[in-house]
Amino acid sequence: MVRLSFGLLLVTLFAQAAQTPAPPGRANILRGEYSQWRANNDLLSYHLDVRIDPEQKRISGKNTIRFKMLKDDARIQLDLVSYLVTEKILFNGQPLKYERELNTVWVDFPETLRSGREYAIEYFYSGSPPATGRFGGLAFRTDPQGRPWINTACEGEGAMVWWPNKDQWRDEVENMRISVAIPNGLTDVSNGRFQGKTDLGDGYTRWDWLVQYPINNYSVSVNIGTYEHFAETYKGETLDFWTQPENVAKGKKQFSQAAGMIEAYEKFFGEYPFKKDGYKLIEVPYSGMEHQSAVTYGNHFANGYLEKDWTGVGISPKFDFIVIHESAHEWFGNAISAADVSDMWIHEGWATYLENLYVEHVFGYDDALKYVNGYKIKVQNRTPIITPRGIHRTPPQDMYFKGALFINTLRNVVNDDAKWWKLLRDMFKEFEYKNILTEDMVAFFNKQTGMNLTPIFDQYLRRTELPALELTFHPGDSTVSYRWRADEPGFAMPIRVGTKGNWQIITPTRDVQTIAISVSPEQFEVATDLYYVNVVRQ
Ligand SMILES: [Zn+2]
Repeated sequence: MVRLSFGLLLVTLFAQAAQTPAPPGRANILRGEYSQWRANNDLLSYHLDVRIDPEQKRISGKNTIRFKMLKDDARIQLDLVSYLVTEKILFNGQPLKYERELNTVWVDFPETLRSGREYAIEYFYSGSPPATGRFGGLAFRTDPQGRPWINTACEGEGAMVWWPNKDQWRDEVENMRISVAIPNGLTDVSNGRFQGKTDLGDGYTRWDWLVQYPINNYSVSVNIGTYEHFAETYKGETLDFWTQPENVAKGKKQFSQAAGMIEAYEKFFGEYPFKKDGYKLIEVPYSGMEHQSAVTYGNHFANGYLEKDWTGVGISPKFDFIVIHESAHEWFGNAISAADVSDMWIHEGWATYLENLYVEHVFGYDDALKYVNGYKIKVQNRTPIITPRGIHRTPPQDMYFKGALFINTLRNVVNDDAKWWKLLRDMFKEFEYKNILTEDMVAFFNKQTGMNLTPIFDQYLRRTELPALELTFHPGDSTVSYRWRADEPGFAMPIRVGTKGNWQIITPTRDVQTIAISVSPEQFEVATDLYYVNVVRQ
């Protein structure tokens, strides 16, 4: 997801300046904590089977939740926003007792469920959810022609704003069916492979979709409207596109970038991770979202981001930012997912870095370096990128831009591109279809490089301040003393200094070291386009 528009950026800046984080409320804890009643089970599958009525702006139906118990227990925790009604929860056809606490639903079984055994419940619900969050949650809109246009986008608010589920980030179902009944004549595009549609004989048609991979709850989506379909194949992969009939010509032109995007990311990370489900771009009335295998698109069929130069350095107008950024989440966000929202930089920092890889692949290294450095102006350095665990506190926007600049720094710390490309590919394979925390990624990089990169990861992700290289020049004897000003005790990061074209790599620590220099202090440079650091000269 892209969280901020240009206008919002400033507003947020001022808002954040005045805020210190409020202590988490009960709803945050219920949502963010991986409680014993979440941890006692492992999700296997969902079958979400709903009817959506555009006239009444109403959703009703059920989610069949299959899970395996990991402990003997008689209670599990599910989530459904408080303004939606739980009608009944059935277990072997018998209603279960349940208790609501804010958006959480505690479900109690009449007998102890046994560890290792698989169970299924049917959760019936209904209601008319109001639009919520930046992109609407479940939003009942109309298109410019006045026809119904109904979409879901709920990453921040949680899937619970439109369907009942185990709404957290650690555990995902292995697969999912999505069945959506809508008035005849409308189309629903959801995640996964289209299985067929059935005329229900009452003016409604049910559209069935099958997701054959693990999927984040918030990634599950319905897109209901008057859609026209067109398709391409790229190396045997299906690329399916859905736009309003009026926009097919524009869509065909703009979405031709999808094949090049897949080619670029496959080069760096290997095969597109959701091959069985295919890849889709679906037109929506908001900017866009990385719904798995069903990326939603509202970028005006134009390059840049909402027709602007996203990083202001002349590179972003060369490609469609939403196609490139949201699709990058198929690799980071969807295939590799963070296990807690605290570590969401794994989605956004990496997806933002992948924009650079795309630029490097298509337009060359110089453009990529210019593009990534264009992000510096967006970095705030107000709070650490990783937020406290277990309270569902969304990280600051630095997770995007500082995150990407950090990964670019890491490439230069590794200082061997052949090794870097292999690291990226191996890291992706290691964590594909898994839900991980930053520690898992740090451990991988440490093991593969044989370096201790932990203080570097920690300084950039768990501390507010950038590392600053302190340079003290001694013109009398042509030397310079240097050290890192950094919060992490073991911080020791190599960096290129000297003159462009003739860099010398030094490894400053927090203790002072001195080297001889053959240029004047004014000519002595630090490669700040390769390493995202501050430089203090004295
Ligand atoms: Zn994103």
